[in-house]
Amino acid sequence: MKAEFLIIGGGPGGYVAAIRAAQLGRGVVLVEQDRLGGVCLNIGCIPSKALIHAANLYHKIPELSPLGISVEGLRLEVERLRAWKEGIVERLREGIAKLLAANGVRVIHGRARLVGPDKARVESPGPEAELVEFGHCLLATGSRPLELPGLEFDHELVLDSTDALSLREVPAALLVIGGGYIGLELGTLYAKLGAKVKVVEMMDQLLPGTPAELVRPVERRLRELGVEILLKARAKGLRKGRSGAELLVETPEGERRIEAERVLQAVGRKPNTAELGLEETEVQLTEKGFIRVDERFRTGNPRIFAIGDVAGPPLLAHKASHEGLLVAEALTGGAKVSFRAVPAAIFTDPEIAYVGLSEAEAQAQGREIIVGRFPFAALGRAAAIGETEGFVKLIADAGSKAVLGVEIVGPEASNLIGEAALAVETGATLEDLARTVHPHPTLPEALMEAALAALHRPIHIFVKAPRTRKEAA
Ligand code: FAD
Repeated sequence: MKAEFLIIGGGPGGYVAAIRAAQLGRGVVLVEQDRLGGVCLNIGCIPSKALIHAANLYHKIPELSPLGISVEGLRLEVERLRAWKEGIVERLREGIAKLLAANGVRVIHGRARLVGPDKARVESPGPEAELVEFGHCLLATGSRPLELPGLEFDHELVLDSTDALSLREVPAALLVIGGGYIGLELGTLYAKLGAKVKVVEMMDQLLPGTPAELVRPVERRLRELGVEILLKARAKGLRKGRSGAELLVETPEGERRIEAERVLQAVGRKPNTAELGLEETEVQLTEKGFIRVDERFRTGNPRIFAIGDVAGPPLLAHKASHEGLLVAEALTGGAKVSFRAVPAAIFTDPEIAYVGLSEAEAQAQGREIIVGRFPFAALGRAAAIGETEGFVKLIADAGSKAVLGVEIVGPEASNLIGEAALAVETGATLEDLARTVHPHPTLPEALMEAALAALHRPIHIFVKAPRTRKEAA
């Protein structure tokens, strides 16, 4: 078979590239070995956010009595919750299959392996492997969970994120190894469903790499939820018993043995490059094992591109999808080959989201910056929904006043970062944000107020600032 454009992997990178390339008139063949939608739809973003939503509701209900709302006989039916979540995933997956078909993408269910610089072999459940000769090929094979030596997943006691999302029961005690975003999102979810959760993190803060001031409210909330947090703690070994596991942990205070009914290991992810036949091509890997690509996602073979998790961090679905769009458009002579900033959203309690440069990054680049900050405690809508923890922080260039970065911790941070991403992507200024009329009472008003604060004229907080008659006029 000949394929003008062969895409290996039907996750948010691969299927988005397939749809866009087909819209542009390319003959596209998409090969997926498992389920369309990849990790994100089936065992990542969507099921985790569905369960987090349900856990938030379940946990919130007993706290509603000050609002005059009391519920008796509250209980959790895990089987129904799981079925509900799976229904959502299935519906979305069917939607992707229909969209691919409507756009004329040929989908092959099978495992692809490169067998030359312009050929791949696809093994399907059917009798014969099919040889596909391609004009161009896109590798979008994603990533899988990492496991520490001695802590291999057995999917009974030692779980990966997929097991944790399958949710057959809520364990009495859950030990989470890894305080990154996956560990914390799932740890919070289980704590809200009633598990006694402990988090073991090797570094000196949770969510390593995230500005510490954004992490503090999350850490406070975790402690309120009864989560025990062990920092600078290294998991060394595991002893399995009949009803649980005992983890040996090296902490600054000495060795500790921690018992748990289940252990969730979420210590990072590794790219799916093995068995792809890369040795048959000029495609190379980075030191960390990701596929090496240039700024246009080209590998060492001019016909082969790579995007998404397999092509390196940040390992995020929207990054994979946008890279897919860019490759599809570049193949048909599209002009735009890059984007400025990839926002990140972390669905903890409260949520964290950021985009562009942090204050520390801007300073490290020697830029002169101004910073505006606005607390949710001063925002009408935040008070009205009882979610006043956190703040919005804007980092702007001191001269041009262009918005360089935005950091948010607080209610709906994941939704608020969209406007911030638009500002950073389009080079909007503080005045643009401050003078855009925002509906009241809404959470995005916090972005407008943070821009006003950076300009020394916030309305709903008092900031003492130099004020001349001319400025005041
Ligand atoms: P994937 O989604 O991994 O898809 C790759 C596909 O390629 C898979 O379907 C695989 O079966 C297929 N494949 C691999 N090898 C072959 C082969 N040889 N032949 C055929 N098919 C092959 N990201 C966010 O942005 N927001 C979130 O909230 C978020 N939450 C997450 C929660 C969890 C628990 C996890 C695990 C991840 C989460 N992510 C989130 C990350 C997100 O899921 C990934 O960044 C995203 O799925 C990467 O997309 P991709 O297309 O590169 O690869």
